[in-house]
Amino acid sequence: MIDLRSDTVTRPSEAMRQAIAQAEVGDDVYGDDPTVNDLEKWAAQRHGFSDAIFCSSGTQANLLALMGHCERGDEYLCGQQAHNYKFEGGGAAVLGSIQPQPIENEANGTLSFDKLRAAIKPLDPHFARTTLLSLENTIAGKVLPLAYLAQAREFCDNHQLKLHLDGARVYNAAVALNVDVIEISQHFDSMSICLSKGLGAPIGSLLLGSTQLIAKARRWRKVLGGGMRQAGLLAAAAKIALTENVSKLQQDHKNAKYLAEQLNNLAGIEVNLAEVETNMVYAKLGDKIDINKVTEELKNKNVLISAGNPMRLVTHLDINKSDIDRFIQHLSILI
Ligand SMILES: *Cc1c(COP(=O)(O)O)cnc(C)c1O
Repeated sequence: MIDLRSDTVTRPSEAMRQAIAQAEVGDDVYGDDPTVNDLEKWAAQRHGFSDAIFCSSGTQANLLALMGHCERGDEYLCGQQAHNYKFEGGGAAVLGSIQPQPIENEANGTLSFDKLRAAIKPLDPHFARTTLLSLENTIAGKVLPLAYLAQAREFCDNHQLKLHLDGARVYNAAVALNVDVIEISQHFDSMSICLSKGLGAPIGSLLLGSTQLIAKARRWRKVLGGGMRQAGLLAAAAKIALTENVSKLQQDHKNAKYLAEQLNNLAGIEVNLAEVETNMVYAKLGDKIDINKVTEELKNKNVLISAGNPMRLVTHLDINKSDIDRFIQHLSILI
C-alpha cells in the first residue's frame, strides 16, 4: 500500500515495538510512570522549557495550551488557516469558553503584525480579553522564517500577549532550515509537538511550557478525559520518534521535491516547486481531471490519496522513491 494522504499513517518501527514491549510502566495519573516521566523531563530540557506533558493527540496538546494561557472570556489571535482554529472542532470555544480571533494568513503562512495589532481589543467590558497569539510551524508545509518568529516575540512582549506555537511539524521546519529546534522553540511560551506524524510514533503529542502552565494543563487534561494510566507504553515509542527519526525527515523532504518534479512532468498537473519546502506537495489539477474518479481508481491499485484540488500529497517514513515512481506511473495512465 502506498499511502500519500498524510504523515500520520506511518506504522511503528521494529525499534518502537521493542521499546513498547520492554517499557517500564506505572499509573501516570499518580505520576508513577517512569517512562512518561523520563520523556516529559527529557523533552522539556531538550526544547528549552521548564516542564512538559504527554498528551493523547496534537488537538489535545493545543487545547491544553489554549486553556492554560486563557481564562473564560479571553481570546487568542491565530490564522484563518490555523489547525487550532479550523480543524479542531472549535474546541477552544466549545470546551474552554475561549474565543478565537482569526486573521487572514499571508501567502507564506505568517500573520501580518498590522492586522494583528488592529485585532487586539481594548480592556473594556464590551470585549473579550486578548491574551494569546498562536502561530503554526510548519503551516501547510511552509516554514515560518526565523526572523519572523523573533518579531512575533517582540510583538507579544509589547502587547502583553503570550505566544504559543502549534509545532505539530516543528521538526520539519527545523530540518528544512537546517537549525536546531531550539532556534525555533526559544521564542515561545509554549509549544506542542506531534510525535505521531513524520516522526513515526503510533500515538502521542507533547505540550511544553512553564511549570505553572503545565500544572494547569495537567489538571485540564484530566478533566478532558486525557489522564492515561500505563502510558509509558506510548511514551517509549514517542521517545524513539524524537531520538531516532528526526534525522530521517530530510529524506521525506527530498522525496517531496522529487514527487513534485515528477508531477510537473504530467500534463494537466502543476506544482509550484518553490513552495515545496518540507514534506507536503500541493498540486493544481486541470479541469479535465476528475479527481474523485482518479482517487477511486488509484485505490484499486493500492494507492491512497485525498481527493482534492489542489491535491495534497504528503511524504513520510513509509514512502520511498520507488513508491513515488509507482504512484506517478499509475497516475499518468489515469489522467
Ligand atoms: C495534525 C495537526 C494537529 C493535531 O494533531 P492530532 O494528533 O491529529 O490531533 C495540530 N496542529 C497541526 C498543525 C497539525 O497538523
